Amino acid sequence: MDPDALAERKMQFLFALRSRGVTEAAVLGAMEAVDRGLFVRGLFAERAYEDTPLPIACGQTISQPSVVGLMTQALEVTPRDKVLEVGTGSGYQAAILSQLARRVYTVDRHKRLVQEARGVFDTLGIVNITSLIGDGSFGLPDQAPFDRIIVTAAAEDPPGPLLAQLKIGGIMVVPVGQSDAVQSLIRVRRTESGFDYDELRAVRFVPLLEGVAREND
Ligand code: SAH
Repeated sequence: MDPDALAERKMQFLFALRSRGVTEAAVLGAMEAVDRGLFVRGLFAERAYEDTPLPIACGQTISQPSVVGLMTQALEVTPRDKVLEVGTGSGYQAAILSQLARRVYTVDRHKRLVQEARGVFDTLGIVNITSLIGDGSFGLPDQAPFDRIIVTAAAEDPPGPLLAQLKIGGIMVVPVGQSDAVQSLIRVRRTESGFDYDELRAVRFVPLLEGVAREND
């Protein structure tokens, strides 16, 4: 694509984000800095600056940019935060978080996705993301507790181990509901005495699955 057309598309991309409620300067700045085009391959790369989810390897999807922006805003990330993301996928959400947080841990059950995402993080010179292969439903007990946790696959309920690994005062954002239906994006705040829940909006995510994927899944 010629540079003028690319610049034009990127401007439209930011405009679409703002018009869909992504209004925080820090979040918009991160989304301007991280080129979504690097996280989408092949036929779909041309559509990287549209506000739409797109297919990635292993039958998964890179989320819709406005949903990435709204989830990031809901997470209220600060520069001191240690963040856990469950569901690396393309790595795009983790890269956005890396601009806002001190450190990001991201986990995916597909080895290939983790390897590809690591390649993009290297290309971008991002050094504060640790990406791991595993079943993220169990969190990362060795690195817990976390200031912020974001789950980018739908669970029937917020996974217990993730709630347990959230700091007091911490925030978790997670889509909850059946995988084949519309789900609710939930924000959980951990207080001294328990958890406060609020429902943010309807979303649609691929399901949170058990275990590490087999090589050919
Ligand atoms: N955040 C991603 C999109 C995630 S798609 C992005 O920015 O591109 C959801 C991802 O969750 C998929 O890659 C899927 O493999 C992963 N996933 C599903 N269940 C999981 C589990 N139990 N542990 C870790 N990753 C999981």
